[in-house]
Amino acid sequence: MSSAIRNIVIIGGGSAGWLSAGIIAATYASAADGVGLRVTLIESPDIKTIGVGEGTWPSMRRTLKRIGLSETDFLRFCDASFKQGTEFHGWASDTGASYTHPFMPPTDFDALNPVEAYLAEYTKSRFDQTVCPQVALFADNLAPKQITTPEYAGSTNYGYHLDAGKFAALLQKHCTEQLGVTQVVANVTAVLCKPNGDIDRLKTDRTDDLNGDLFIDCSGTHGLLINGLYNIGFIDRADTLFNNRAIAAQTPYVDETDPIASCTHSTAQSAGWIWDIGLPTRRGTGYVFSTQHQSDDEAERTLRQYIERTSTAAIAASVQTRAIAFEPGHREIFWHRNCVALGMAAGFIEPLEASALVLVELGATMIADELPADRSDMDRVSKRYNDRFQYRWDQIIDFLKLHYVLSTRTEPYWVDHRHPRSIPESLTSLLQTWAYRPPWHHEGYHKDEMFPSASYQYVLYGMGFRPARTMPQHRHHDQQMASARRTFAEVTKQATRLRTHMPSNRALLETLKQHRLQTV
Ligand SMILES: Cc1cc2nc3c(=O)[nH]c(=O)nc-3n(C[C@H](O)[C@H](O)[C@H](O)COP(=O)(O)OP(=O)(O)OC[C@H]3O[C@@H](n4cnc5c(N)ncnc54)[C@H](O)[C@@H]3O)c2cc1C
Repeated sequence: MSSAIRNIVIIGGGSAGWLSAGIIAATYASAADGVGLRVTLIESPDIKTIGVGEGTWPSMRRTLKRIGLSETDFLRFCDASFKQGTEFHGWASDTGASYTHPFMPPTDFDALNPVEAYLAEYTKSRFDQTVCPQVALFADNLAPKQITTPEYAGSTNYGYHLDAGKFAALLQKHCTEQLGVTQVVANVTAVLCKPNGDIDRLKTDRTDDLNGDLFIDCSGTHGLLINGLYNIGFIDRADTLFNNRAIAAQTPYVDETDPIASCTHSTAQSAGWIWDIGLPTRRGTGYVFSTQHQSDDEAERTLRQYIERTSTAAIAASVQTRAIAFEPGHREIFWHRNCVALGMAAGFIEPLEASALVLVELGATMIADELPADRSDMDRVSKRYNDRFQYRWDQIIDFLKLHYVLSTRTEPYWVDHRHPRSIPESLTSLLQTWAYRPPWHHEGYHKDEMFPSASYQYVLYGMGFRPARTMPQHRHHDQQMASARRTFAEVTKQATRLRTHMPSNRALLETLKQHRLQTV
């Protein structure tokens, strides 16, 4: 009997489900042609999607292009804007000082590690501004491209801010109308297995049974298959990253000419941090905090005070808030038998650095690119997948924790974050290395590393990290310093050029209502 993999069933119609459907369906011919894959997505008419998740990585451009969506249509339909990184306020200390993590690496990063020269001569300036011209665009809310720049190309690297509900709706329309994905609106009521333990089919409350060869669990936090059926363990990471609650609010602009921020603003608070993102029609704001350190009422007051400071008292008093509880952590494994969990079903850690959707993109891309031809190949692929994604989760956790351990803030939440017991050994070891050797390319083990060494540099030196020990002087020190001075001078020139030529985020998005970006 053939056990070829031809029939993929995805449970869940949130961003994870539809992104996975799009990536897989865009990779293979459709079953309708007799030689391809059948992709079916089932979503409940009763269980709502989580409806948040508004910041993406630059990887989303590659994903949207891969699935054949036009960037102009995406921007218009999803109330989306351009994001060029994150600006952190008040993280390093409670003086409110800021630093950024832009999406572009330092200029000439392949040839030059900028840290030594920065520490030797430039510490009166901010690290990010010294090494990366993109940062100059943040302050004036400038766009990464012009209207004449083709779709998905940019003068600087960028991702998006978007409306999560509209994004899922656009993906659904595109997947069903252009990519041959079958949508089923029904509740999964039972899961039937084969004698060997693989999933055979799903029973629903309003359709025939759905048979499949591979099942993708995008059913949200409760993980209908990975948890409900297979009971795969959950690794709770609250001992390292304490945040477990968010209060979100959609905040209107004071008037329609208000600037649209071209980065996420992340402002540290006494027991967490507030995100603030700019969409064309509103801001998305929210406070992510630890319920061990602050009550819901205090947290809501904190968010409203922030909105009042950055908007008006009337808006702060009138916004509707929504509380979302989550358990920070992830599954022990993600692919078990013929079932892979993606999105919230696989795990979730606070949205600092917006790493959730990119994990879905990476996961679905690996499933599509390494799809086993036959069931007999699946356990080999699933092992590779689990190894890769366990590594990725650990790396995300280390990177997010880094934002906390370098802070000198004195509230109990921040002090607890610096307690050695809460810091993973892997991060402690990296910090010990960085005490005398700054991160550079030797940090990355995989080609598609989620956080390259440039990201670590922006956080470390943005937060004022200084080496504890010095290395012997490099043989070519003088040449390296001269080259760094030239590079940093070029960064200043590039920053001026970008500021002169880039339109504001709002101006470009207004133009896009009338004109399309060129397709290539
Ligand atoms: C506060 C917060 C902020 C976030 N911010 C970001 C961010 O800035 N960037 C980012 O990348 N990510 C962010 N995320 C994460 C992001 O929201 C999610 O990763 C993303 O929305 C994917 O969710 P999902 O599709 O896995 O789950 P959901 O949206 O919960 O979808 C679950 C789907 O499963 C279906 N379902 C469930 N049970 C059944 C059943 N029995 N039968 C049929 N269907 C069923 C539901 O109907 C629904 O369609 C954030 C998350 C939170 C909590």
